[in-house]
Amino acid sequence: MVLGGLVSLLPKSGLQCPLPRAWVVLDPGHGGEDPGAINEAAGLVERDLTLDIARRAATMLEDDGYAVALTRNDNATGYANTPRGVIANDCGAFAYVSIHLNSFGEPDPNYALTLWGVEAKDAAFAAAMQAALVSHLRPGTGLGDSGLDQLENGGLLTARMPAVMVEPVFLSNPDEAARLADPSGARRQAIAAAVADGVDVWLRSRHLAPIAPSDRRGGWRGPAMRPEDPLLAPARGSAPQALGAALAAGAGRMDELWAYVDEVYRLAPLAGLDPAVVVAQSALETGWWQSPAWVEHLNPAGIDITGADVDSPTWASGTDAARAQIVHLALYASGPIPLDHPLAPYVTLDPRYDAARDAGRGGSARHIADLAGSWATDPQYASSIARVGNVIFGPQPLLAPERS
Ligand SMILES: [Zn+2]
Repeated sequence: MVLGGLVSLLPKSGLQCPLPRAWVVLDPGHGGEDPGAINEAAGLVERDLTLDIARRAATMLEDDGYAVALTRNDNATGYANTPRGVIANDCGAFAYVSIHLNSFGEPDPNYALTLWGVEAKDAAFAAAMQAALVSHLRPGTGLGDSGLDQLENGGLLTARMPAVMVEPVFLSNPDEAARLADPSGARRQAIAAAVADGVDVWLRSRHLAPIAPSDRRGGWRGPAMRPEDPLLAPARGSAPQALGAALAAGAGRMDELWAYVDEVYRLAPLAGLDPAVVVAQSALETGWWQSPAWVEHLNPAGIDITGADVDSPTWASGTDAARAQIVHLALYASGPIPLDHPLAPYVTLDPRYDAARDAGRGGSARHIADLAGSWATDPQYASSIARVGNVIFGPQPLLAPERS
């Protein structure tokens, strides 16, 4: 049944995330007519083990508060690699892990390996994951550490979020096979714990850990963003909300956008600015971070683009882009920035600072509405910022349900 086998592996159109807005997508390798590696002597089939491990890891991550989607949840379903990345993109996830088990024609090898596809997007996540695999799985087993490697895998290359493939152990190694086959499931549970820990460590390092159940009701529950809202106000929303909306919208330069959003949520409160307004203004000005000004120049908010035929200046990083926008907004909201202010080191990142100060813009904008006619000529500018802000921060991101 060669034809049937091929057809079942072709990408299906309309691949959908089983849990839209899941933060983590786990991909049990192989499936359907593709069993993956087999150890007949020990009765091990990679397809079945990867699903068992993925389910265990999903439960652990859900206990931590993450919403988790699996690309397949039965052994009859299988995809080629690229559709697995398509599913992860449809989820708008923050992390993608494809779970496999290694195999070799000789019995001896047994080491952990983590593979990445696109270095800028994946390599740091891969390093965190490999460290978790080794620290969880080596004790008492002599498991080797093969480090990281690149793999031109369709899932890793298609997934737009940080993505890795793990090969935690070799099912062809007799000692390891005995552990994997042990009915207690302890080894599979340990592999799942390693994967869950790698994901958790990585997302926490990016300030994307889920809100603790006790804090979930403490988020933004006030009225919607409105044009008459003050610029100088307590922080609303969160970096995960902003990044989740950006991923869902198809934002460009996600590597730099992570840094941009992180810096906005760190720095804007130091200037008294509501970071939610900063992010909403950027999303509006850059067309959800898809405009050439953002993609080619990392210009977060049309800074120094004074006409249709004027080239944008270029910022070196998303972090610098955030600093420039916050400096410019702080000038508008509070007036010239004192030399001992936390923003003072970043004033030089704003090419329009002197011109705006000299034009009397300092302290001219107390509310979002005051930016219309000064930052931008569009009379609908403030209501557009508020509309975008409500799209980003209105619906709370999906979190795993609380367990009683
Ligand atoms: Zn495999």
